[in-house]
Amino acid sequence: MSHDRSSQIRRKHIPEPQPLIPEPGSKITLCFPDSNKSCFACCPPIRPAHYEHIQYKNIIKRVLRENTSAFTRGGQGVRPITGMSCWALGYLDKECKLIGCLLHPGRNRGKDLRYRVGFGEKCSREICPEAREFLKLEKEPRRFWLQLTDGLDSFSYSSRKVNPLFKMLGWGAELLAEIARAEGGVSLSRDSFSLSYPFFSTPLNPKAHAYIIESMVKRKGTGLLRWQGFRQRFEVFSRYLLVSLEKNFSYCPDAPHTHRLDLDRRFLDYLRLAAGITRIDVAAALKMKEIVDREVVKFLETGGFNAPW
Ligand code: SF4
Ligand code: SF4
Repeated sequence: MSHDRSSQIRRKHIPEPQPLIPEPGSKITLCFPDSNKSCFACCPPIRPAHYEHIQYKNIIKRVLRENTSAFTRGGQGVRPITGMSCWALGYLDKECKLIGCLLHPGRNRGKDLRYRVGFGEKCSREICPEAREFLKLEKEPRRFWLQLTDGLDSFSYSSRKVNPLFKMLGWGAELLAEIARAEGGVSLSRDSFSLSYPFFSTPLNPKAHAYIIESMVKRKGTGLLRWQGFRQRFEVFSRYLLVSLEKNFSYCPDAPHTHRLDLDRRFLDYLRLAAGITRIDVAAALKMKEIVDREVVKFLETGGFNAPW
């Protein structure tokens, strides 16, 4: 049997899709950006760290076809997920481009049937940090940033290693909105973005360094992220700053957890993820912040020798 013939037969069993992607005029989400691709990275919600569907693309494509064919609309019973794959994950369109939840309310006339896989409310509650950041953006910046994902299929789009937008969202919605605004709606492909903004090829963890970059951009604008020499200078500065903080910090096991302090969230991420400070009291954290803010200003005034800012 030829491959074409077998896929025709398989498609006969795929139920008629119901709309799941946002209606025209409604907000674009990171989960369902358009009619060519969707994200299914968090299905099922419990899986090994660093697991990515794209590593098992062919096997999963077969499972998705089987799930979609076997799915019975109108079922109510609970059938818990066993192993690493959810029986309710399937194809949502005839062309098999969109992958998502067959129990989602968008597929079932508004009725949420996701309880049927036995995860309680976990499926309907779950939203990743990147999707949350994306929701903070207005419509135009969302469109601007989604250009980085043009041409990706659902497997590549769902992969944090392949889809560059996941990494970019780690820098935070505020910075992304600022860059989109500075670009004035001009269209930027993945390649032209990498060429225009060489800073973002840095191996530094975006979430850990978002506070520092945001402070610099607030003072000097997004132009510094375009400058070729900035990335290297920033990485050297970042190492120097961590050494300065270490000299001024004493660990106290009874201090509150860093993430619980009522201070700027991005600064707390910097303390935790870049400086490795997991416990600190407010007074000490404020002292660290003073050092960081002062060093940022100094770097922009003197560290950027020959820099065009
Ligand atoms: S991993 Fe994030 S973007 Fe992807 S489906 Fe889950 S919540 Fe949406
Ligand atoms: S029930 Fe739906 S949302 Fe939950 S893991 Fe399965 S496919 Fe994903």
